[in-house]
Amino acid sequence: MEKTHTVVVGGGQAGIAMSEHLSSHNIPHLVLERHRIAERWRSERWDSLVANGPAWHDRFPNRDFSCGPDDFPDKESVAEYFVAYARKIGAPIRTGVEVTRAAPLDGRQGFRVETSDGVIEAQTVVAATGPFQRPIIPPIVPQDAPVTQMHSNAYRNPGQLPQGAVLVVGAGSSGVQIAEELMRSGRQVYLSVGPHDRPPRSYRGRDFVWWLGVLGKWNADTPAAGAEHVTIAVSGADGGKTIEFRKLANQGMTLVGRTESYRDGKMRFAPDLADNLHKGDANYLSVLDEADAWVTSNGADLPPEPQARDIPADPPCVTDPVLELDLAQAGITTILWATGYALDYGWLQADTYDDRGRPLHTRGVSRTPGVYFIGLPWQSRRGSSFIWGVWHDAKYVADQIAIQRDYMAYQGAEQRQQEDA
Ligand SMILES: Cc1cc2nc3c(=O)[nH]c(=O)nc-3n(C[C@H](O)[C@H](O)[C@H](O)COP(=O)(O)OP(=O)(O)OC[C@H]3O[C@@H](n4cnc5c(N)ncnc54)[C@H](O)[C@@H]3O)c2cc1C
Repeated sequence: MEKTHTVVVGGGQAGIAMSEHLSSHNIPHLVLERHRIAERWRSERWDSLVANGPAWHDRFPNRDFSCGPDDFPDKESVAEYFVAYARKIGAPIRTGVEVTRAAPLDGRQGFRVETSDGVIEAQTVVAATGPFQRPIIPPIVPQDAPVTQMHSNAYRNPGQLPQGAVLVVGAGSSGVQIAEELMRSGRQVYLSVGPHDRPPRSYRGRDFVWWLGVLGKWNADTPAAGAEHVTIAVSGADGGKTIEFRKLANQGMTLVGRTESYRDGKMRFAPDLADNLHKGDANYLSVLDEADAWVTSNGADLPPEPQARDIPADPPCVTDPVLELDLAQAGITTILWATGYALDYGWLQADTYDDRGRPLHTRGVSRTPGVYFIGLPWQSRRGSSFIWGVWHDAKYVADQIAIQRDYMAYQGAEQRQQEDA
C-alpha cells in the first residue's frame, strides 16, 4: 500500500497553499484532486466571471498575475495562475483522483484513504475541498413546477437559458452580477434582494480590499453576529464598480424582497425590500465613515470623494414593491437560485462535526487528531476563504502538522540508547 505523511484532498487554491507550506517543512505529502487543478474556477463559475478583488491583492505572496496589478483577472486566468503556481513550487498533485473515503486506522495512528486510484495510508488528512461545495436551492418551488430552476453554479451565460424573463433569487456577488448580465442581454429580470452588505468598490482612490486591510478588517477573527450569513454584493466586473441596486432598477431591473413562498404558479416576496436596501446603504456609508476617520487620524493624502455619499432615490419598485408575482403572467421561464452553498464532508470519517455536519475546529485543527481543514469561511479570520487569506491559514495548519510530526518522532532516552547500541 502506498504511504505518505499527509494527504491533502482538493487541488484548488487551498490545496496548493497547503502543499507549499508542507514542502517548506519537508513533510512528504500528496495532493489529490478529482478533476483538474482549480477546477471550480473553470467549470463551476459563469463564463464572464472575473475575480472580486484586484490582481495585486487577490493572489499568493510569491507570484503576481500576468495582468496589471489593478485589473480583475478573469476566471480562466485565475485557474491558470494556480496551475503555474503548482508547477513553480513542484506541488505533488495527482489530478483525476477522487477521494471516496478517509477513515482512522484501527488501533494505530493514521488514516486509510480510499481513492478512485487505490488506497493510501497517511498520518494526516487535510480537507481542502472548498468553502463552497454543494449548491443549495431552498425547497420553495417544487421540482415539477413549470419553470426551469438552476443554481448559480450551473449558470454559464444568458444564451443557456430558455427564452423569457428570469427571476434571480439572491443578491450577493453572484446573484447581482448574473442579474445584470441577463438584463444587458435583453432579458426582463426580477432580482430578489435579501439582507446584504454592499461595500464601495473604491473610495478616495483606494480599492475596498485596501480599505479592509488598513482598517484591520481582513484580520477580524470573529464574524459579527450573523455576519457569516450576510451576503456581500461586490464585483470586479467592468473594471470594478460599486453595486447600486437602485441604479439597476432605473435601468429596467425589477427589484423584489426576499423570496418567501410559491403556490399555484405565484411567487410571494417579503415586504422587506426597502429595509434591506437601507441596511445595505448603512453598511456602505459606515465603510465611508471609517475610511474618512482613518484619513483624518493618519493625515493621509487621499482625495475627498463627497459624491460617493449620493444615493439615488428609491425607484417605484422599492416604494411600491411587488409582493406577489404570477410567474407565467410575468413571462418568467427561469428561476436562477444564487442562494449559496453547503459543506459536505461525507467522505471524511471523523468525530469533529456539529449537528449540521459543519467541522468543529480551531483555526483548521479539528477535534480528531490528524484531521485538518483548510479554506473554510472564517476559518481564522474574514480573509480565510479568499485567495490571499487561505495562504496564511495554510501556513498555520502546516505548522501544526509539523509540530505533531515532531512529537511523534521524539524518542525517549531508553529508545535512543537502544538504537545507539
Ligand atoms: C462565484 C464565486 C466567485 C468567487 N470569487 C472570488 C474572488 O474573486 N476572489 C477570492 O479570493 N475568492 C473568490 N471566491 C471564493 C473562493 O476563493 C473560491 O470559492 C475558491 O474556489 C476556493 O478555493 P478552495 O481551494 O478552498 O476550494 P475549491 O476551489 O472549491 O477547491 C476544492 C477542490 O477540491 C476538489 N475535491 C472536492 N472533493 C474532492 C474529493 N473527494 N476528492 C478529490 N478532490 C476533491 C474539487 O474538485 C476542487 O477542485 C469565489 C467564490 C465563488 C463561489
